[in-house]
Amino acid sequence: MAEPEASPGAPSDPGGDAAGDFIRDIVRRDLASGKHARVVTRFPPEPNGHLHIGHAKSICLNFGLAEELGGVCNLRFDDSNPLTEDMEYVEAIQRDVRWLAFDWGERLYFASDYFDRLYALAEELIRRGKAYVDSQSEEEIRRHRGTVTEPGVASPYRERPPDESLELFRRMRAGDFADGAHVLRARIDMAAPNMKMRDPLLYRIRHAPHYRQGDAWCIYPMYDFIHPLSDAFEGITHSLCTLEFENNRELYDWLLAALDTPAPRPQQIEFARLNLSYTVMSKRKLLQLVEEGHVGGWDDPRMPTLAGLRRRGYPPSAIRAFCDLIGVAKAHSTVDVGLLEHAVRDDLNPSAPRVMCVLRPLKVVLTDYPEGEGEWLDAPHWPHDVPREGSRPVPFGRELWIERDDFRPDPPPGFHRLAPGREVRLRHGYVIRCQEAVRDAAGEVVELRCTHDPDTRGGGTPDGRRVPGTLHWVSAAHAVDVTVRLFDRLFGDEQPDRGKGGPDFRSFLNPDSLTVLEGCKLEPAAAEATPGSRLQFERLGYFLLDEQDSQPQRLVFHRIVTLRDTWARISQQREAADSAPARAAPAPPAAAPSHSPADPLAGLSPDQRRVVADFAGGFDLPLDDARTLTSDAALAQLFEEAVSRHRNPQGIANLLVNELLGALAGRPPASLPFRGDAIGELVALTDEGTISTAIAKEVLAAMVAGEGTAGEIVARRGLEQVRDRQALAPVVHRVVAAHPDNARAYRRGKSGLLGWFVGQVMRETGGRANPQLVNQLLEEELTAGRE
Ligand code: ATP
Ligand code: MG
Repeated sequence: MAEPEASPGAPSDPGGDAAGDFIRDIVRRDLASGKHARVVTRFPPEPNGHLHIGHAKSICLNFGLAEELGGVCNLRFDDSNPLTEDMEYVEAIQRDVRWLAFDWGERLYFASDYFDRLYALAEELIRRGKAYVDSQSEEEIRRHRGTVTEPGVASPYRERPPDESLELFRRMRAGDFADGAHVLRARIDMAAPNMKMRDPLLYRIRHAPHYRQGDAWCIYPMYDFIHPLSDAFEGITHSLCTLEFENNRELYDWLLAALDTPAPRPQQIEFARLNLSYTVMSKRKLLQLVEEGHVGGWDDPRMPTLAGLRRRGYPPSAIRAFCDLIGVAKAHSTVDVGLLEHAVRDDLNPSAPRVMCVLRPLKVVLTDYPEGEGEWLDAPHWPHDVPREGSRPVPFGRELWIERDDFRPDPPPGFHRLAPGREVRLRHGYVIRCQEAVRDAAGEVVELRCTHDPDTRGGGTPDGRRVPGTLHWVSAAHAVDVTVRLFDRLFGDEQPDRGKGGPDFRSFLNPDSLTVLEGCKLEPAAAEATPGSRLQFERLGYFLLDEQDSQPQRLVFHRIVTLRDTWARISQQREAADSAPARAAPAPPAAAPSHSPADPLAGLSPDQRRVVADFAGGFDLPLDDARTLTSDAALAQLFEEAVSRHRNPQGIANLLVNELLGALAGRPPASLPFRGDAIGELVALTDEGTISTAIAKEVLAAMVAGEGTAGEIVARRGLEQVRDRQALAPVVHRVVAAHPDNARAYRRGKSGLLGWFVGQVMRETGGRANPQLVNQLLEEELTAGRE
């Protein structure tokens, strides 16, 4: 995490360092100006459900920012709704925040502890003539609120004298009235353009016991009343909330002013909530999944809840890294769930020891290996590129298990694994050759009879012959049977939650999201792992030894994440070739010629064709893109790294093929000052709409010139798309006002001029405005001025 000290130029240098975002800039400015001596934030969950990955963003922001800037963060339960809240959630939420390794110390608060103080302030508002008891029904009140274009209608009780309101309010509290008989409303402005300011509700009657206050209250304050005042009570300096509360800010400030709370008052700042592809993030919908039994519970490993991610095996450090990676912005966007998975792989690669486990076993008998004999091989726990020491003994013998998928009686082209007559290397073991496939009565292969080459112990081939495939395996005599649960995305659609009017999110449930495999064969050393450990099963993914369901004789593993993102390839021929990456392209023609569209593989040898075809199939790319990308090993690697950072192979291929090669102007890709993940980041920024594709080219050129990562360049140059209505509306207004003739012509029917206006606004904003929004604002502006 960043240093608490802000660098001297920091406040005016958004994004100048890793921890830069608009909120941190505001806070730094307020500290530098002396407005606040120390930053105090709060994380305010309502204890009506479990926390999810979206909350993690808010937790990392509130706690992380306070930690970085030398402040503190409160944990406050926002618990004013007696109907939905529960102590069970309070405890679960605390456990989840602690799990993320954030600490609120002594600063644990409950809004319900403020009920007395809040009540006293409500009376004070009434005395000041700034609130009144309304005896209309909530339904009537809603009906009279007006619309965006029409003012609301004042309640007949609006002019009720304070004394009378006060007495009624006291009787509401005393329990004299039924639910809904009266409410307390702020007295602000029924014609306010901001609907939230049209005499909002502050209290309502609810004869219901509260999980902490019992029967002490039968009136309960509303969020808009509690939140600013709780912030003031706790000395919060910056109250960070999600964008849906933007319109509540005016009311927040109004209440603090109406009650003369002392300065410096807390400031509400909104940021975009996290949305993830393939994920629903509403507590209500998650509850539905649990209650209707679509998942096994709140901590089902397929759930986006923190409890679910923990049970799945996601390390808390990976979730924090993910939150750092996505940053904080004011524009709505959906983050690719692949990015979260990427953060998990990044975290586990250097921390999860490699072991071997066979999920769907097929017996191999080495006919030339003496019966009853065996040996122990020394197998390192870490690959070469992880600088760690350690190994374990792995038993080898005459009977082994390999993966059923690793054998094909009729291997398709590109299949480098076992087939009749073919050789493969057993990882850390020997090279073996398949002599015969034994079939049962139904014709299914039940056993492979193989021979081994004793000169290849440890996997080397002293005679230098090429053995393309390497398989994981486990000795049959020593294997430990374990249960393995494989998870796939819970929803098969990128956007399962389409909101009102869209298809029900449950219709997108992926029926194959859980696969349970029994009788998987684990190497013996790994069976000694302590529950809660995370291991890599070679070639299969990262796995957690589940603490909850594992028993000494029945270990249960959860696949945390696969080694690579396979979702994009699912439609690919599952039948197809080797899953090994086509990284080692056998040097196709040095200067990739321009391929004729008729045959993108023209001029390639059969081997080269296979490499290109594998690459294209693996990433779902057209053959000509695949050919260009595989024509240079560094370029291919750049591409693969980019895709594992951001799963949009075609978008990345387009950028590399169409833009990068041009920007390189003949220099070799290996000379670039960045790695593929930087490209992934750039394409992610484009895909999530942070920058336009035109701007992406500018950013790429700067990256090639060594100016930093995409995020840094965008932040430094201020290139984010502007999608804030309030920011753009004045520009649109100015442009229209500056060209009255064209505006008139447009209104008279020259609708083609709209495009011209869009161009002017884009020019004014340096190409940064979101074009759809500009269009919309222009249409509004131009039609509004119509006589
Ligand atoms: P609801 O209000 O519907 O019960 P909620 O998700 O807003 O659900 P809270 O318990 O009120 O739940 O949320 C606590 C804090 O977490 C709030 O400050 C909220 O803005 C923030 N938060 C909730 N969801 C997200 C999200 N997807 N991304 C970022 N922050 C979030
Ligand atoms: Mg909420």
